[in-house]
Amino acid sequence: MTAIPGDDDRGEISAAEWQVRVDLAACYRLIALYGWDDLVFNHISARVPDSPEEAPHFLVNAYGLMFDEITASNLIKVDQQSMPVEETLALANGPGFFIHSAIHMGRPDVQCVLDVHTTDGVAVSGQREGLLPLSQQAIIALASIAYHDYEGIPIDDAGITANIAEGPRLVRDLGNCNNLIMRNHGLLTVGQSVAAAFLAMFNLQRACEIQIKMQSAQSAQSQSLRIIDSRIIENVVANLDKVIESVAGQIAWPALLRKLDRIDPGYRK
Ligand SMILES: [Zn+2]
Repeated sequence: MTAIPGDDDRGEISAAEWQVRVDLAACYRLIALYGWDDLVFNHISARVPDSPEEAPHFLVNAYGLMFDEITASNLIKVDQQSMPVEETLALANGPGFFIHSAIHMGRPDVQCVLDVHTTDGVAVSGQREGLLPLSQQAIIALASIAYHDYEGIPIDDAGITANIAEGPRLVRDLGNCNNLIMRNHGLLTVGQSVAAAFLAMFNLQRACEIQIKMQSAQSAQSQSLRIIDSRIIENVVANLDKVIESVAGQIAWPALLRKLDRIDPGYRK
C-alpha cells in the first residue's frame, strides 16, 4: 500500500525518495512500538535513492525527536559527515551517525542501517559465546552474523567528534553479513530495503530475548539447554534468501504498515 501525498505536499522530493521516507518513518514507529528505542538516541538511516555513489545522501532522524514522533517529512537529509544538505532547523547527531555513515560507505549494496540498544540485545552482546543456536530465530540470524568489539562511546574529548577511526574496523567486521552484534553495546542490522533491515532486527532481537529467557530458566532449574543440530543450521543457511525475500519482505512489511495505519497513520505525513 502506498499513500503518497500529492506533489504539493512533497515539494521537491521525488516519488522514490518519498517512498523511502515513508518506510523509514514507519521503521522508527515500529521500533518505538516494540519498545526497542532508547529515548532520543540511536538512528535508523536510509540511503537517498538516486544519490551519487561517491557522495551519497542519507535520511535520518532529527536529533531530539522520540521515535514515535518521526514522520516522512521531518526526517533530515545529511551527507556522510552528518552535515545537513538542506536548510533545516533540526540538529543531526554527528557522533551517533558515524557508525551508519561508515557502513553505508563500506556497503553500497545496503539501503538501510538500523541499530538498537535493547536490554536483551546488549545482554547477549556481552556474552563471550555471543548468540547461541537455541531457537529458530537464532539460526536464521546465525546464517549471516558478525561481531564487533566495543571501542567506547564514539565522541572525542570535546564530545563532538565521532571516532572516525573505528569506521573501517566496523566495515571489516560486518563483512557481507546482515546482522552485527556490537559487543557490550547492542545490535545492528542492514538491509537492501528498510523492510529487510527491520525484519532482520525483529528476528535478531527475538533470538536475543529467547536466549536470555532460556538461560534464566536454565539457571533457575539447573537444566542444560539443547543446542540445535549443526546440519539443520546448514540447511537454513542454504535456503535463507528465499525465505527472507518472499515471505518476510513481500508479506510481513505491508502487514506491519497496515498495523501502523490502524494505530496512527501520522508517520506518512
Ligand atoms: Zn549504538
